[in-house]
Amino acid sequence: MTHNDQTHPTRRLILQAGAAGLTALSAGCATSISGAKPRVVVVGGGWGGIGAARALAESGKVAVTLLEPNEGFMSCPLSVLYIAGHQPASDFQRSYKTLDDLGVRRVRERATGIDRAAQAVSTATQKLAYDFLVLSPGVEYMEEALPGYAEGRDQLPVGFRAFEQSAVKQQVDMFLSQGGNLVIAAPNPPYRCPPAPYERAFLIAEQMKLRGTKGKIILIDANPNPLPQPIAKPILHAMKSLYAQQIEYLPSTDMQRVDAGRKVLTTNMGDISYTAANIILPMRAPALIRQAGLGERWANVKLPTFQSTVDDKIYVVGDAQGSPLSKSGHVAFGAGQQVASNILATVAGKSQKPEIGTVVSLPGGICWAKVNKVDAIMINVSSSMEVGKPPKTQFNVDPQHNATSGMGAREWGQSMWRAMLG
Ligand SMILES: Cc1cc2nc3c(=O)[nH]c(=O)nc-3n(C[C@H](O)[C@H](O)[C@H](O)COP(=O)(O)OP(=O)(O)OC[C@H]3O[C@@H](n4cnc5c(N)ncnc54)[C@H](O)[C@@H]3O)c2cc1C
Repeated sequence: MTHNDQTHPTRRLILQAGAAGLTALSAGCATSISGAKPRVVVVGGGWGGIGAARALAESGKVAVTLLEPNEGFMSCPLSVLYIAGHQPASDFQRSYKTLDDLGVRRVRERATGIDRAAQAVSTATQKLAYDFLVLSPGVEYMEEALPGYAEGRDQLPVGFRAFEQSAVKQQVDMFLSQGGNLVIAAPNPPYRCPPAPYERAFLIAEQMKLRGTKGKIILIDANPNPLPQPIAKPILHAMKSLYAQQIEYLPSTDMQRVDAGRKVLTTNMGDISYTAANIILPMRAPALIRQAGLGERWANVKLPTFQSTVDDKIYVVGDAQGSPLSKSGHVAFGAGQQVASNILATVAGKSQKPEIGTVVSLPGGICWAKVNKVDAIMINVSSSMEVGKPPKTQFNVDPQHNATSGMGAREWGQSMWRAMLG
């Protein structure tokens, strides 16, 4: 990550004055007269929130509060290895002890509202004042996009958020032992980790082969080709070369309604009966973001700072923000770290505002599409932008699945989880 660290002289003076306490009388100032540390509230202890909370706490310069209802972290990346039965769920879980040891005040509650004027976040039991707010609450499923879904929710787990994987595994285990039709449905973008529905289909198809399950996976895709576009070829190659007998691929097929009682999914191509289903719904930022006026479907942010377009005290990272960057854990973690350094620079009285025309790199990342227990396809994404212009993204993708990337995926997971909570 590169930033333009050139500080504009006027801005430097203003910020130095602020750090010296001259702005301390204004509401919500970063440094109080008493010398108390500036307060940063981080909402969400997933990939983005951990990136920010850890880097902020390690600096020792700010007081960090993390709002996260779960007692620990669970990774979505690589958790298909749990769903397919290769590893226990605990392999993808980590405790927040590292953050606790760094002095992060962890509050096991959901943020229920943001009062931007008062610079405070509400939970069911308290109000937390902040000088800076970092939001990384992930995604919400757009249930209303599929009539009938809400009524059948319990039987139709999406499993694209932490700890939801066990409900999907139950469906998958039932299908693998009974056979029949397993419907997996992928929505139009933008949604979290576009290769994930194909990866899930592949690892379940591998189990069908191993266990002799009678039936098929019907992979319904709202898109004409697997996404993101640069991986369409290796995904289709894996589908045809490894799972021609197990997976029936239906591209450009829209879900119209689901009847969980009768187990029928209606599409623009007709009705499909299923034994088990894993419907990936369209996604958006959680209601917290919309209710605070930070965006409609996604939070609107300014790049490269990830500051809200309507409130400079609020940063939004991870999948909830609506920039063209990939909705990936790796990108979310890097963005969290980048935001932490922006906040620390502001607290230290250094400008974090790059000049128009400067080229800056943006958080990049790697996504993996496992195709079986051993092989994977690597998708390496790097992004940069000329300040004032839209970001540019470059993909570097394996032309075909291979064992080196399979091993790379596992090593990547271990090193990311170590960087986050090790
Ligand atoms: C199957 C699958 C495979 C994937 N594979 C990869 C991969 O190979 N590589 C990769 O980089 N990415 C991958 N991803 C994407 C990655 O998981 C997401 O991009 C990442 O989780 C985004 O981080 P986040 O911080 O935005 O959200 P999350 O990690 O989902 O964290 C959000 C956190 O916020 C908490 N929260 C939500 N609302 C509130 C609230 N109101 N108050 C307090 N806390 C709240 C939640 O409990 C959660 O812990 C994959 C995703 C899936 C589903």
